[in-house]
Amino acid sequence: MTVAFTEPEERQELRRAVARLASKYGRQWFTNKARAGEKTTELWLEIGRNGYLGINIPEEHGGGGGGIGDIAAVCEELAAQGCPLLLMVVSPAICGTIISRYGTDEQKKRWLPGICDGTGTMAFAITEPDAGTNTHNITTTARKDGDVWVLNGRKIWISGVDEADHVLVVARTEALSSTGAGTGKVKPVLFVVPTDAPGFEATAIPMEIISPERQFQVFIDDVRLPSDALVGDEDGGLAQLFAGLNPERIMAASFSTGLARYALDRAVAYAKERTVFRGPIGGHQAIAHPLAQSHIEVEMARLMTQKAAALCDAGDDMGAGEAANMAKYAAAEAACAAVDRAVQTHGGNGISQEYGMAGLLVATRAGRIAPVSREMILNFVAMHSLGLPKSY
Ligand SMILES: Cc1cc2nc3c(=O)[nH]c(=O)nc-3n(C[C@H](O)[C@H](O)[C@H](O)COP(=O)(O)OP(=O)(O)OC[C@H]3O[C@@H](n4cnc5c(N)ncnc54)[C@H](O)[C@@H]3O)c2cc1C
Repeated sequence: MTVAFTEPEERQELRRAVARLASKYGRQWFTNKARAGEKTTELWLEIGRNGYLGINIPEEHGGGGGGIGDIAAVCEELAAQGCPLLLMVVSPAICGTIISRYGTDEQKKRWLPGICDGTGTMAFAITEPDAGTNTHNITTTARKDGDVWVLNGRKIWISGVDEADHVLVVARTEALSSTGAGTGKVKPVLFVVPTDAPGFEATAIPMEIISPERQFQVFIDDVRLPSDALVGDEDGGLAQLFAGLNPERIMAASFSTGLARYALDRAVAYAKERTVFRGPIGGHQAIAHPLAQSHIEVEMARLMTQKAAALCDAGDDMGAGEAANMAKYAAAEAACAAVDRAVQTHGGNGISQEYGMAGLLVATRAGRIAPVSREMILNFVAMHSLGLPKSY
């Protein structure tokens, strides 16, 4: 029986199928790849071949015709098997959604099939060193030179540039103030930029996350782009960008709940086996209660994530905005707590490479910072949900 608070059987079957596929790879394979500086391309292409990577993209462009709820389920189940793929957040969910909604037919034909089968991964670049959280202050500028757009700027923390053929870059067209700072009211314009374009360079940032997917600083110096590199309307404003941001938050939440489930599964298995006094350590409430608490927190975050996805797929962008922010907040908090408790359950093994728990600490911690920080979500909820004065 399906009630409004459970997912349809088709979605549940999708979850089981993705979990089966990912379990062939598993956590050990994933961390070995990361530590060896290798990529997880086999897994990426296999989920692409199976139709999971583009499950949210329209069928006529190589996708599965599903929604954000489906791709979020894929993302969560991969992470729950210990194989979190950050580029799923970016390539199909942000870039795929924006191009599906606002691209021309020609652009959809050119870019969406590769996003779906995994052969044409697209990164997404909005964050800048000086603007940070305040994306209204981005200074990457697009100038028209006849039929050509000329892009200049800097981006930071951009995931997966080394695995992408293109980056969807967020720029602005307004003239900058004499100080060089942004005007504070961005009118974003979106461009698909080939990663091999002259003037485009990326430098990897050494990170503490154990992941094959890396973050980059990006330098854009007089990158010349044809007019059809512009996605959407030059004057389309924030709506075009926001089309990708609710999916981004829902995916980030799923990434967190998946990792939390992975850590909890490991911790529960360990707590059932490890015996130091009488009976397994899971028999002590000091071990059992924190794990039970985490299970509740993760299930609540999953429910909120599924609500956000349902609103998003129903086209309620406003409702989805609030729910996606709340889901992302709840999921990141639940994941941080779950991993911390999983480490504690493992005792000394919790910080050994063999058990791989401590390696999850930074990965889940990143969920409180990116793609939008917990403080900015609290700002949003205080202002929009509670009607309190704007605080920033
Ligand atoms: C692993 C990882 C992957 C990423 N991938 C991408 C990507 O692919 N593409 C992309 O464009 N970006 C990416 N990012 C960037 C990410 O979105 C930013 O790091 C994030 O938005 C925070 O910006 P910042 O790091 O500049 O922090 P800052 O803006 O410098 O903020 C620092 C701290 O101050 C707080 N703060 C700032 N202003 C306020 C305020 N008004 N009220 C309360 N608190 C405030 C913030 O919440 C934060 O805790 C990634 C980041 C990470 C860590």
